[in-house]
Amino acid sequence: MLIIISGASRGIGKAIALRLAQKKCKIAILARNEEELLQTQTEMQAIGAEVLALACDITQEEAVKNAAQNIITTFGTPTILINNAGVGKFRTMADFSVEEFDNMMNVNIKGSFLLTKYFLPAMQQAQQGHIIAIASDVSKRTFFSGSLYCATKYAQDAMFSALRKEVRKDNIKVSVVYPGMVNTYFESNTFVNRPERLDADDIAQAVEYIISVPKNVVIDEITIHPLQQEY
Ligand code: NAP
Repeated sequence: MLIIISGASRGIGKAIALRLAQKKCKIAILARNEEELLQTQTEMQAIGAEVLALACDITQEEAVKNAAQNIITTFGTPTILINNAGVGKFRTMADFSVEEFDNMMNVNIKGSFLLTKYFLPAMQQAQQGHIIAIASDVSKRTFFSGSLYCATKYAQDAMFSALRKEVRKDNIKVSVVYPGMVNTYFESNTFVNRPERLDADDIAQAVEYIISVPKNVVIDEITIHPLQQEY
């Protein structure tokens, strides 16, 4: 089994990486921050996984293409791709800069598209695979100051829901996870830790469940909220 996880340098992606490392399989992890990524790799190797850590900006086509070739050459056919990397900024529409718009669209939509584009052909050739997107509960609702972030997450949801219809014939599963509020570094340079939020490992547990079901079963969607979150 070969699993690829984007945005595994911290937060939800790192929690997924550490939880799936317990399967002692091959895992490739991607993010831009090499130091944090290597730290994740060290922790995963201590658990017993075989890990390839590649610094990669998923908004850059050449970087994603090269990373995909490197991973496939090193580890073989991809089994599971977890599109987790994402960014979020929250303000009222007129206060957003064009750079913030471009960055959110590029990471949340283009990045997921590029990774999927460059791993999908190998899955289709193998006639097996599983693509998972970590979207958001705001893929299905909006909130004050969330216009652009919600737009990216609605688009991500639409992209993967449509992809599910395309790749079913190739025995490829597509699952979308919709988390509520999670304690991570999201939108901040410091770790946000509020008791009323989910832990990143709560999402990792859901991903572990999604990939554990029998071959002929697919979990299309899973929504996870902290009990006390209003939505
Ligand atoms: P986080 O702690 O900020 O982690 C984000 C990850 O994405 C980091 O590993 C970051 O690594 C990576 N990333 C960002 N830009 C990238 C780029 N251009 N290329 C490659 N990697 C990039 O945030 P998180 O909360 O774990 O977020 C993970 C996912 O969960 C996102 O898609 C987010 O929308 C979703 N989500 C989060 C929450 C929440 O409450 N936290 C709720 C619902 C959904 P580098 O900076 O090293 O590149």
